[in-house]
This record gives sequence, C-alpha cells and structure tokens, in this order.
Amino acid sequence: MRYASLASGSKGNCHAFSDGESTLLVDVGISFLQIRRRLEALDWDLEQVRAVAITHEHSDHIAAIPVLLKRTDWKFMATEETMAAILSIQDVDIPASRWIPLRAGHALDWEGWRVLPFAIPHDAADPVGYRLELGGHSAAVVTDLGHPTALVLDHCSGLDHLTLESNHDVQMLREGSYPPPLKARILSRVGHLSNEAAAGLLDRVWSPRLASVVLAHLSEQNNEPELARFAATEVLRHRATRLVVATQGTPLPLSLEPSVPRDGIMMDVEMRIE
Ligand SMILES: [Zn+2]
Ligand SMILES: [Zn+2]
Repeated sequence: MRYASLASGSKGNCHAFSDGESTLLVDVGISFLQIRRRLEALDWDLEQVRAVAITHEHSDHIAAIPVLLKRTDWKFMATEETMAAILSIQDVDIPASRWIPLRAGHALDWEGWRVLPFAIPHDAADPVGYRLELGGHSAAVVTDLGHPTALVLDHCSGLDHLTLESNHDVQMLREGSYPPPLKARILSRVGHLSNEAAAGLLDRVWSPRLASVVLAHLSEQNNEPELARFAATEVLRHRATRLVVATQGTPLPLSLEPSVPRDGIMMDVEMRIE
C-alpha cells in the first residue's frame, strides 16, 4: 500500500492510497487541477483513481466535487447524511451511479480493499474517519476530530499507518486573533484535535506495528509544525515509528511497506517534493 498526503490544512485536504492498480482518495478539498498536478509530481497515475471517500461536508474536504463530477468518472463514497449535506451546500446533482453509500461502522469491500468508515465527533452532519485494510496492511485517516472517543481509539489501534489531525497549539489558539466563538468551536468536543490531544491519542493506540504517523490538518494561524512534531515526538521518542508532518502546499509520499528501519524515530523531510 502506498500513501500520499496531497494537501492537508484548513485550505484543503486530500489524501491518496494506492495498491499499484487502484487509487482511493480520502477527501477532495483542493481543486482538480491541484489533485492532478500533485499526483503527477509524485508519479502517481491519475487514471488509477477510482473513487473518493468523503469524511464530511466542510468545504476544505469537498471543494472539488462539482468539477470532478464533470471531468472524471470517479465515484464518491459518503454516508447518506453527508451526501444530503453536500447536496444542500453545493449546487450539484450526484447521480446514484456515482455514489457509493456508506454507513458508519459498516465495512465496504472495494477493489479488494476493506473500507471502514467510523463515527468521529465533529460539528458536521455525519463525520467519519476511515480505516483501510489491504493485503494484511491497515491504515487510517482521522482528521477534524473534536476529541478521541473510545470508538476512535479502537479504530486507530493495531494500524501500520495513521494520518492524524494535530490541529492547534492550545496556547496559540487561546492567545491568537480568532474571534471568541470560533476559538470556542475549535476547542469544543466537536471541534479540532490539539497537538496535546493528538499526542495523547498516539500514546494510547501505539503498538510496535505502527510504522508511520503523519500529523495532518495543522492550523496555519494556531500551530507550528515544530510544535506538533514536538508533542508527538514526546510520545514516540523511544518507539520505532516514522513521524512526518503533512503540509498544505507540498505533497508528501510515504511507502507503507514494512521496510522501514525500526531502530528509532525517523524524522524524514527528504521525501518531500518542493
Ligand atoms: Zn471539518
Ligand atoms: Zn477540515
């Protein structure tokens, strides 16, 4: 299984998983042009993209849908509530043939993959994280997460790879320029996960199997990559897990094959494409 964060942050999110034949995107919050360019930059074949798994209807996760409906034949996986919310926000008609209905907690067999959406607390209609399993490998994408529920911890356990939100530094957010209601929303139990909470989650779900962690959906205003990295490093310091911070502007590829040296935490920046 190969993974790439194509974009991550409040200006647009898109993650890609591939088995070499089929590619599944998780969220499409950047333009189709950017999706194409970034896949090309990583030498991933656009023609292999078959479907998009949508986590929830906030614009930084669905912005490309209207163009993708016209320009591709990709299918959209989404729960019924999320699809209804998308239709109420975007002026689009998504034909039944393009929609793969999901239900949180119910796994779907797709192109030989097991796609398991699971409920996460966030202020959207029916937000989900995704756990993907393929040929003995398992990975999950969990962003836009107000707090880690027992269900979330359960689905983040026993993974080979985890892409996890590390949205904000609580002090930066509290002291920053956001209006108080927005601060309250982000800090709420249906808002976003702080660096500290992300590190706490990692500590609880870590197993020797966890080869890589990508910290995602960092706030531009209320976080610094080094703060997110520092919090997670505190937890992973003596554990053999590769730690990478995803960015808004630069696609980040990661092989999820178990060939990673397991002799300590790896801080790799050399894989980034500028
Ligand atoms: Zn959101
Ligand atoms: Zn978001």
